[in-house]
Amino acid sequence: MGYRVTLIPGDGIGPEVTAAARLVAEATGIPFEWDVVEAGEAAIKASGTPLPDAVLDSVRKNKIALKGPITTPIGGGFRSVNVALRQQLDLYASVRPSRSIAGEGTRFPETDLIVVREATEGLYSGVEHWVDRDHSAAETVNVITRKASDRICRFAFELVRRDHRRKVTAVHKANIMKTTGALFQTAFREMAMKYPDIPADERLIDNMCMQLVKKPAEYDVIVTTNLFGDILSDLCAGLAGGLGVAPGALYGETLAVFEPVHGSAPKYAGQDRADPVAEILCVELLLRHLGEKAAADRVFRAVWETIAEKKFVTYDLALPGYTDRPVPASSCSAMAKEIARKIPLVDPSAPLPRASGPSGGPMADPALET
Ligand code: NAD
Repeated sequence: MGYRVTLIPGDGIGPEVTAAARLVAEATGIPFEWDVVEAGEAAIKASGTPLPDAVLDSVRKNKIALKGPITTPIGGGFRSVNVALRQQLDLYASVRPSRSIAGEGTRFPETDLIVVREATEGLYSGVEHWVDRDHSAAETVNVITRKASDRICRFAFELVRRDHRRKVTAVHKANIMKTTGALFQTAFREMAMKYPDIPADERLIDNMCMQLVKKPAEYDVIVTTNLFGDILSDLCAGLAGGLGVAPGALYGETLAVFEPVHGSAPKYAGQDRADPVAEILCVELLLRHLGEKAAADRVFRAVWETIAEKKFVTYDLALPGYTDRPVPASSCSAMAKEIARKIPLVDPSAPLPRASGPSGGPMADPALET
């Protein structure tokens, strides 16, 4: 008997990147049984609804899922399946690590940040309406509760303690949002007093964006509300090399769903061009969650070496910034096969080569040093 895991391929590039991740997961030799369920466009075609009960039931039963991205129509149409899944399964902690892999594609080769985002409330409450009949004014309700703020802040401090991280920074806008922002800020301050051994500080969201692109090494674990976390995790993904390499995890009290930061990238759907790394690194996080550390280390190492070698990399990793010399872009499936091939061959205990910038060392920009 293997680990029974719900697999939600999603739509857009989702089926391609989840097939890649599955190939790599199976190459670890850890036995998996995949319970494949459809959500998003495929589910609408099959059952008329983007989030069938079978998906929720499967995750509740298996307690763990690997998920591809799912498209949300912009401006109208059905509500986000991703948001609904988080709310209905109470997956309250969205954890998005941004590590620079092979040190390339970034000004900041040493990037190592984790965004911990509250994922069930805030401006994603879904409580919104037009104020008048001619749709000239609208309101969205920013729901912040003490209970959800306490538990996401506790989650961040516990993560620092468990993973031996350095500090927690809370991000809010309590100067302007004097109720919702202040409630989150108070919850953070009171939680920080319960963890006196862990350094804690605060930033306003606007200042945090500037600080992160200027000196990301000063930050470590960032805890924040839903919308700010969504934006900051894309920013941090950009610091670490791009959306193609940014994995994520959603945790509830007993459930865990692993999904990349990126969306369904519709323009690349069905072309076998998308970068599979973010979804493959979701497998690494999933293996760590299962306690399969050795297999997780192998996955990370195989990804690292494949990116560093630049022989089998997708278009985004073959672009200037990732590489000084032009390299031909591989397909999504070819890159995944190469990572899977390397899994039994790599030595995860060997030190990783020193991170370097696109020109062989961290990119210096005197304007950024002030
Ligand atoms: P996106 O992340 O899909 O794409 C942003 C940019 O990054 C695009 O240029 C895209 O081509 C590129 N990109 C993304 N993933 C890539 C990959 N693996 N390899 C190479 N390039 C990649 O964001 P978007 O365009 O704003 O959103 C598209 C759809 O995805 C929307 O419907 C949105 O609602 C949805 N979305 C879903 C999730 C999720 O399922 N959790 C997250 C974000 C967005």
